[in-house]
Amino acid sequence: MLTDSYGRIATDLRVSLTDRCNLRCSYCMPPEGLDWLPKPEVLTGDEVARLVRIGVETLGIREVRFTGGEPLLRRDLVSIIAATAALSPRPEISLTTNGIGLDRRAAALRDAGLDRINVSLDTLRPEVFRKLSHRDRLSDVLTGLAAAAAAGLTPVKVNTVLMRDLNENEAPDLLRYCMEHGYELRFIEQMPLDAQHGWRREDMVTADEILDSLAPHFGLTPDDPAARGSAPAEIFLVDGGPARVGVIGSVTRPFCGTCDRVRLTADGQIRNCLFARDESNLRDPMRHGASDAELAAIWRRAVAAKLPGHGINDPGFLQPARPMSAIGG
Ligand code: SAM
Repeated sequence: MLTDSYGRIATDLRVSLTDRCNLRCSYCMPPEGLDWLPKPEVLTGDEVARLVRIGVETLGIREVRFTGGEPLLRRDLVSIIAATAALSPRPEISLTTNGIGLDRRAAALRDAGLDRINVSLDTLRPEVFRKLSHRDRLSDVLTGLAAAAAAGLTPVKVNTVLMRDLNENEAPDLLRYCMEHGYELRFIEQMPLDAQHGWRREDMVTADEILDSLAPHFGLTPDDPAARGSAPAEIFLVDGGPARVGVIGSVTRPFCGTCDRVRLTADGQIRNCLFARDESNLRDPMRHGASDAELAAIWRRAVAAKLPGHGINDPGFLQPARPMSAIGG
């Protein structure tokens, strides 16, 4: 098992399949994009499949989430998911995506073994979408969401980051939209993970503010806290349920004590935390002939060194060198 010195066990693997993205959301990357990883540095589909297999068969990983960058940009996504679904014990398989192009691929992804999906949607207003992501793709995202639901990738979850003076007043509209379509909405506090290092605490729309902006429109009742387990989202029943809304207060309501996640970057580095400053290289030993047992040992050591918390609220906090798009959200 992947245990750390604080007694936590990592069972949830987040795999970034690429650092590239077709949007430029300002909380993540600058309008001009970034210097992408050179292709030879990025894990091949077979390499991803091997590391996921080691995680599942040897190290106790029970959930695998593919993310990025934008994972739908990987042409071999279906075969990577199929290889993951063939593992024993079969892990839960999910995908975090911006939804662009999902209408063409949702059925194939489901048939390959994808169980669930999270689609990022920060606004319902085309002009705000353009401003926030520097692309005019809102209708593609909404089409992708509908395709995910039609393909049965349920519950379809929606991730929203609210930004001051941009979409901060859209929380009620987004929740109404999600309830009408049967999607489960989660608001995520903006974290200091943008490539530009432009995050400022005072600009962050906090979990308290998000809940305050929903309160005049909906009755929110906290869900049973025992049901939360290691999930990042605090869940609230909306108007008594069954509709639910989640708030991920990564900064103001951290949940590091129950964290069960570990990350594999697109270039084959293990990160024991989104905010880790160290990484453990699995790619190079793998390419130089390391055995499964040797790779598992490196991975175990990486998780064992996990710190008790992300430290965002500590005076000495330093943002990690890699942005969210290169770590995998
Ligand atoms: N491209 C995919 C997408 O748009 O969902 C997957 C990668 S994206 C990095 C994963 C999630 O991270 C998205 O829901 C996005 O909103 C969120 N995210 C990115 N940067 C963030 C930040 N600085 N703070 C909070 N969430 C962030």
